[in-house]
Amino acid sequence: MSDFNRFKNGIMGFIIGDAMGVPLEFKKRELFKNNKVTDMISSDRVGAKGVWSDDSSMVIATMKSIIDNKGKINYESIMDNFILWFLNKDFIAIDKAFGIGRATFLALGNYYNKRYEKITDCGMKGFNYNGNGSLMRILPIAYYCYYKKLNDDEIYNLVKDVSSFTHSHEISILGCFIYVLLAIELLSGEEKENAYSNVRKYDYTKYFNLDIIKYYDRLLNNDISKLDVDSISSMGFVVDTLEAVIWCFMNNNSYDKCVIEAINLGNDSDTIGALVGGLSGIYYNDINNKWLNGIKRKNYLLDLCNDFYNSLL
Ligand SMILES: [Mg+2]
Repeated sequence: MSDFNRFKNGIMGFIIGDAMGVPLEFKKRELFKNNKVTDMISSDRVGAKGVWSDDSSMVIATMKSIIDNKGKINYESIMDNFILWFLNKDFIAIDKAFGIGRATFLALGNYYNKRYEKITDCGMKGFNYNGNGSLMRILPIAYYCYYKKLNDDEIYNLVKDVSSFTHSHEISILGCFIYVLLAIELLSGEEKENAYSNVRKYDYTKYFNLDIIKYYDRLLNNDISKLDVDSISSMGFVVDTLEAVIWCFMNNNSYDKCVIEAINLGNDSDTIGALVGGLSGIYYNDINNKWLNGIKRKNYLLDLCNDFYNSLL
């Protein structure tokens, strides 16, 4: 399978995972215990199938900025695209933009109203702003780091900055960093057991204090995949989200199974579905055609993958 297929399947896998999860978002896990959702279904909230949410819109906005800047990262351009998404409904599946989180909303307001000189100061800094809002849009940055062959310091600095557009607490930055490292391992063709093992062995003390790293103890100092599903939360706290994502990824052996497991966890099912969909899309490289054909604006998305790929080469 060509390099482009792996590339494309990660992005499309992410967006399909998001759209699969939208109809189950905010619903309790117990609802699906004996009645799993195994296909792309219509959402009560948006009244259609294959509709992606804020997670994918922000990923697309980031990709589009990198394409327009000929393979370079331009912070202002990425934030401008987030504003275009929120105010102008660019980068959306159907007629409305939905799903924005509170920290992202406030940070975009800081940017739009020019409250700070630096874009990286726009993000929310408090402990209570550690939702998954920067993690859910970080995948294109992993692609950029991998294809531009960034070294560890460069990866850390870029992830820190890009997360800080909206989420600048160290817990959020570390969550993004772990996900980016894992995605890079998979993009480079590593087996998933080795990929997760390498991510666990990484020396995070280079960049983070132990009191921050300890939040990720179950992921980094233990093997999260060994835990029982009942101890895996699927709420929006960035640590909970990343745990659920890696748990689903490690415990399932195909793209479809990963995404089905992820969305049936309920609660923040679109973000968890998207993040698992990204990793398993890259790794299994076998996206379900029926779901692919069910996604809104499929050809627009495939063209975008193509342009994004060419911009990074
Ligand atoms: Mg969402």
